Amino acid sequence: MHELSIAEAVVGVVSRHADGRCVKRVQMRIGHLRQVVPSALEFAFALVIEGTPLQGAELAIEDVPVVVRCRSCATDTTIAEFPFQCGGCGAFDVQLVAGEELLVDALELEDEEDETRPSRRRQTRPATRQLGSPFLNGPLGDNDCAL
Ligand SMILES: [Zn+2]
Repeated sequence: MHELSIAEAVVGVVSRHADGRCVKRVQMRIGHLRQVVPSALEFAFALVIEGTPLQGAELAIEDVPVVVRCRSCATDTTIAEFPFQCGGCGAFDVQLVAGEELLVDALELEDEEDETRPSRRRQTRPATRQLGSPFLNGPLGDNDCAL
């Protein structure tokens, strides 16, 4: 259950950032190389958020395609399937520039000020925090079999 461990990591990180506020929406960017099944992650997420400040939160997953950059001609190519090959000159000497992402991109938190002042229009922009830091990158892959 790769997705369950990811969901648990996400809930841990988001809970710390939310700092007691209710979380309405969690936006993630997940690279194709991570082999995460979005529906499985959504399922695991719904399971894990029960009884946490994230309960009822929506999980939005942005699927990031694999992109490589050619070391010969510097062309960026989006890779649909193996092998990794430059779409410009056909070289195999390419560098991965996208597709390994696994991070929480943004959070939408319940705006407590709005809640206590119902006269204000609900159109107020939700408090979205840009996190962006790749805090989930790295060692996760090594623990795939831990569960
Ligand atoms: Zn090339």
